[in-house]
Amino acid sequence: MLVEISVAIIGAGVIGLATAREIAQGKKDVFVFEKNRTLGLETSSRNSEVIHAGIYYPEDSLKAKLCVEGKSLLYKLCDKHNIAYKKTGKIIVAADENEISCLEELYEQGGKNGVEDLMLLSQTELKKLEPNIEARAGLLSPSSGILDSYTLLKFLYSQAREKGARFVFDTEVIGIERAGAKYKVQIKDRDGISAFVAHVVVNCAGLNSDRIAQLAEIDVAKAGYKLHYCKGEYFSLSSKYRNVVSRLIYPTPEQAGHGIHVTVGLDGRVRLGPNARYVQTVDYAVDETQKEVFYNSTKRFLPSVELEDLAPEFAGIRPKLQGPGEAFRDFVIAREEKESLPSLINLIGIESPGLTASPAIARYVGKMVDELFD
Ligand SMILES: Cc1cc2nc3c(=O)[nH]c(=O)nc-3n(C[C@H](O)[C@H](O)[C@H](O)COP(=O)(O)OP(=O)(O)OC[C@H]3O[C@@H](n4cnc5c(N)ncnc54)[C@H](O)[C@@H]3O)c2cc1C
Repeated sequence: MLVEISVAIIGAGVIGLATAREIAQGKKDVFVFEKNRTLGLETSSRNSEVIHAGIYYPEDSLKAKLCVEGKSLLYKLCDKHNIAYKKTGKIIVAADENEISCLEELYEQGGKNGVEDLMLLSQTELKKLEPNIEARAGLLSPSSGILDSYTLLKFLYSQAREKGARFVFDTEVIGIERAGAKYKVQIKDRDGISAFVAHVVVNCAGLNSDRIAQLAEIDVAKAGYKLHYCKGEYFSLSSKYRNVVSRLIYPTPEQAGHGIHVTVGLDGRVRLGPNARYVQTVDYAVDETQKEVFYNSTKRFLPSVELEDLAPEFAGIRPKLQGPGEAFRDFVIAREEKESLPSLINLIGIESPGLTASPAIARYVGKMVDELFD
């Protein structure tokens, strides 16, 4: 007889951790399986740490709804549990005349998504707020900010554990097979291969989430779940730029990302990035030849930047459903009823704003799990 558990969560990134905390609160028997030696070693620790307002995404998309809800939950969580953050505000800048219409569109879009505090800025208003930025106009988002994502991850982990969730590190999920209304889940750890039975499986496997769906025999191509890896690299600016801006400064968005932006960390360090380059493999090395691209892109709105002041920092990889040149794709958060796998919940394509949306995603998944146990 195999051991039976209620809920198996695959992945201990911010989404798996937040979901474990949410579900364990409902007193269910929750296990989190993580292939790495500890939590948060992949995308959740390789990002901009920005609390996004929810401006960019189509109205009624999960990205828009869960970002707006997640932002407010996250600020409350940080306040209540002393997780460091700063509501810096953010300005999207139009470096030339042609980009002004894009700011107006973003203003409209943000409003539709429930981001009600946006303000269009003239060149003079922008200059008053950010004297070192050269641009024709700006869009101010006062509710954007940055947070200490590592402390958030540790907090979610310890709360999930306190509520009874159990974490199994160094353990990779390698098979998911239907066993009546449940699943036989195969795992591999340093002692070999073993299996257990789970009533519900929640796939929070980030860059591997399409492969997990495939393990459960979902035709990933047909379901539209194939992930494309899109690398985002960062360069830091030397300490002489410490106070060069007070807010996050973003260019108008690109097709695959938010554009190379300027962020100021909680420690005051200034960072540029990320860019957006589709890649075939997971490799976190920063390509130094990108330095000039970063420099040219930043120079458009931060003229004081000098090429020699840029140093390669780190990279992350976006798990994107949207391939190169393709149209917007939303998060997939689905109970796989149509695949006759009703208690498999897949979370696929959880790229930005996944960190911001994490508490709202956890609630969303928590409700799905509750329905399965009703
Ligand atoms: C460059 C970049 C910048 C970003 N900036 C922001 C930002 O500023 N603000 C924001 O809101 N969002 C941002 N994001 C998005 C955000 O980082 C992600 O949405 C979020 O971290 C996704 O978390 P996750 O838990 O789904 O994935 P991950 O953190 O990747 O966690 C998935 C986990 O699953 C584990 N796993 C995979 N397969 C298996 C298996 N078979 N068995 C066991 N475990 C497995 C992995 O080891 C991993 O630990 C950014 C992303 C990138 C790449």
